[in-house]
Amino acid sequence: MLESCWRDECAVMAVSLPEGRDDAAKLLYDGLRIQQHRGQDGSGIVLVSGENMIVRKETGLVYEVFPPEWIEQNRSPLGIAHNRYSTQGVAAKINLQPHSAQAAAGTVSVAGNGHLPYYQSLRQSLEAEREIFETTNDGELLAKIIARETNRTGCVVTALCGLSERVKGAYSAVMLFAGKLYAFRDPYGFRPLNLAEIPGGGIAVASETVAFDILGCDPETYQEVSAGSILEITAGKVVVHEEGHPAKTPCIFEFIYFARPDSEIFGWPVALVRRRIGWQLAQQLKLKAEIVSSSEDEIIVIAVPDSSTEIALGVSEGLNLPFEPGIIRSHTARRTFIENEQRIRDEGVRYKFNPSRLKLKGRRVIVVDDSIVRGSTNRKLITMLRRAGPKSIHLAIGSPQIKWSCFMGIDTPRLEELIANQRTFEDEVRFLNADSLTHLTLEGLMRTVGPLTEEERGISRRLVRPLIEAESGTYYARMWQGICQAEPERYCFACFSGRYPLPVPLPNATIISE
Ligand code: AMP
Repeated sequence: MLESCWRDECAVMAVSLPEGRDDAAKLLYDGLRIQQHRGQDGSGIVLVSGENMIVRKETGLVYEVFPPEWIEQNRSPLGIAHNRYSTQGVAAKINLQPHSAQAAAGTVSVAGNGHLPYYQSLRQSLEAEREIFETTNDGELLAKIIARETNRTGCVVTALCGLSERVKGAYSAVMLFAGKLYAFRDPYGFRPLNLAEIPGGGIAVASETVAFDILGCDPETYQEVSAGSILEITAGKVVVHEEGHPAKTPCIFEFIYFARPDSEIFGWPVALVRRRIGWQLAQQLKLKAEIVSSSEDEIIVIAVPDSSTEIALGVSEGLNLPFEPGIIRSHTARRTFIENEQRIRDEGVRYKFNPSRLKLKGRRVIVVDDSIVRGSTNRKLITMLRRAGPKSIHLAIGSPQIKWSCFMGIDTPRLEELIANQRTFEDEVRFLNADSLTHLTLEGLMRTVGPLTEEERGISRRLVRPLIEAESGTYYARMWQGICQAEPERYCFACFSGRYPLPVPLPNATIISE
């Protein structure tokens, strides 16, 4: 039994504007909208307006939650915001972030992305001290701990400095307290957090850099919030209370599936890592005669859109085979994965994807997807694809088998729900009804976050040229420098390997000692 059922992979956003500007609500709204892929259950914004806090939280998509009149009427220079992505029927309004807790010197309001694996025991220990919880969300727990520690030590910064000792887990968070904005990230840096300067003055903090793109920020000002750091942000400047360091164990799954390909996180353009996943996968597919042997058959590579498109392009480049948009995705359908009931998930797949018959008929088809969790998406999809009459269907997956649950913020569910944990590989292929199944190996995946090989630089010229040729000292040049010194071992691969960077409530888990 897992200790807590509530996990969050969410988006956070915060802005602090200079005197004379009061359009924080609009900037937060824009940042939430472009980060909707990180959470579709509901959203919240907290604004500071003089001595008051304005709070709006509702279930639904960002544009449903915040009507234009609300944005227009609620003027403020400072605020935080959150998109929530939950499972287990906890999409209720009460669980939406930001959460607040009362300290003697003011209200602590927190929006975080991550997960605390020992949420239940932390909560119980506070309940034993008469703390009352209104939600089942770990954001509330963080807010309460910070408020209590602020009271105890008399200083909010001291409270934040001691947080990583008290709370082990993943949190990339923004916070309002006494009219000030703070940003902080756990020392492991599991989840991304970035900041940038807003044109015309002010600072924005967001899970993904796409949020800065939509605000028109200059990429030269983009930077990662260091893991373990504590920042106090005022309109024009950032005060560093705790220095921080490069993330010890950032989550590899952010690259595989979760983040948008046009974001830059953990020092990488997400698109580049995904493309490399495709190239690695192509190396493995080359060895499988039944897939790539020369024959009269026409072979095409297709993607399960959108998250797998970059990976499929990498496969197509690596195998020198044509890429075709063979599955069309409805953009009004939500991410199906998060639905609680299998029946609803199956329906969701039908509404979301349709095969493009003409592309598939009579062809050998390599179908590229990023990951298999329960297996329901791919099983359903393959049944639909078969109706379009391909000769054979070869499933190529841009990640190793997910055999272990994540406790750090990606919702990979209970072990019993993970197909790779429950079935043998052969059984999995039968269940999916594919002609073959290839998962990227763990070694292959690790290579995608290591320095680029000469061969990769060759194939990737178009992708990496702007990085290589960037003028020294610029954002891209710094990024390229980091990529050249990349250390693939440091990422968290626990969902594939069962080796966790932190203790987790799971018997048999291996904990990597520091
Ligand atoms: P499943 O049907 O459970 O095998 O779901 C796998 C599909 O869901 C993949 O095609 C991914 O694109 C997507 N996916 C993988 N992990 C997640 C996640 N943590 N949250 C939402 N969707 C996911």
